[in-house]
Amino acid sequence: MAKKTLKNLKFLTQKLRSETGCPWDRKQTIESMLKCLIDETQEVKEAVEKKDYKNLEEELGDVLFQIVMIAEIAKEEKYFDMDGVVEEIYKKIVSRHTWVFGKDKAHTPEEAIAKWQENKKKEKNNSK
Ligand code: MG
Repeated sequence: MAKKTLKNLKFLTQKLRSETGCPWDRKQTIESMLKCLIDETQEVKEAVEKKDYKNLEEELGDVLFQIVMIAEIAKEEKYFDMDGVVEEIYKKIVSRHTWVFGKDKAHTPEEAIAKWQENKKKEKNNSK
């Protein structure tokens, strides 16, 4: 089987949500998927605590799948889509790492986290 990408996962959720898909998946809402996301996140936590990294790979996939499914439902509801989710987090990570992608300096993890918090505060003030 060819290597699968995020794009394949999006198509998979679209198939599950389609008329020829799965009755359970079709019935889900953003609200009903929240419990699945929290449960799978808890399984990630357990895998990390056990240092079971093979299982961690699987559990991270489970979390990713919940996110892709929620984004697919949001797309159907015309709120946003998975591309928007990726776009938003990409922009946020770049804009908050001003010592990597801008002119700021941060030489230690402590300086980096302080800058991150400062940038986060600036964003919140600018969006008011
Ligand atoms: Mg799981």
